[in-house]
Amino acid sequence: MKDCRHDLPYPLAFCAILTLFATTLLVADDPATLRRERMVADQIESRGVRNPDVLRVMRATPRHLFVPTDVQSMAYEDHPLPIGYGATISQPYIVALMTELLAPAKTHRVLEIGTGSGYQAAILGQLAAEVYTVEIVPELARSAAKTLRELGYANITVRQGDGYRGWPEKAPFDGIMVTAAPPELPEALIAQLAKGGRLVAPVGSAWNQELVLVEKRADGTIRRRSAGAVSFVPMRPAGK
Ligand code: SAH
Repeated sequence: MKDCRHDLPYPLAFCAILTLFATTLLVADDPATLRRERMVADQIESRGVRNPDVLRVMRATPRHLFVPTDVQSMAYEDHPLPIGYGATISQPYIVALMTELLAPAKTHRVLEIGTGSGYQAAILGQLAAEVYTVEIVPELARSAAKTLRELGYANITVRQGDGYRGWPEKAPFDGIMVTAAPPELPEALIAQLAKGGRLVAPVGSAWNQELVLVEKRADGTIRRRSAGAVSFVPMRPAGK
């Protein structure tokens, strides 16, 4: 009789089928996983975002759980989505691009202005040590804090307030990301940037801005460069 124990191709084929089956089960268990894979490949990598950590967290973060239920089916599409109160969650590519420009690291303390849904904060929270995020609309601040807590993003603190002031008690920040557009770079935010730190902000008129990257050198001087045209919700002036 033939002894099959040393007949390697059969067990190998069996293993391969088993792995395929398990993977299929995993993906079927979370159809959003597949949609995120496609989002990253078709919208983000294809446009030149290469940082592997940024790509990894964009694949891992359940964007659909940050948006209102009526737009959840569109959560992985290539555009921003309304989240109420005149705010929008940014297009996935813009979230990835701004994160890559900010270059957060595991030791960094990061400030975000314009919490909105909390999605960008969740992305930053997975790449930095701690994230502080300020939202002017009380309802959005409350719901983003709830979403982040429920999903277990424990190193992110949300505060309702005016982003033009930054968060002086927690300054200096290694990174500052502004996700609503001011007409000019706010001085208070540049002041709260650490030496060697980076700030990314859309700067310009309503809905028509340039994405600006500011680097504060070790001697405290500023280098500013443009990273293309963007269209963000205008940043509300203090007191309005
Ligand atoms: N980063 C968000 C999207 C932000 S949309 C996300 O991932 O979902 C811009 C947000 O900035 C809106 O929620 C808006 O209410 C908020 N905002 C506008 N002006 C502000 C200000 N002066 N201070 C703080 N937040 C502000």
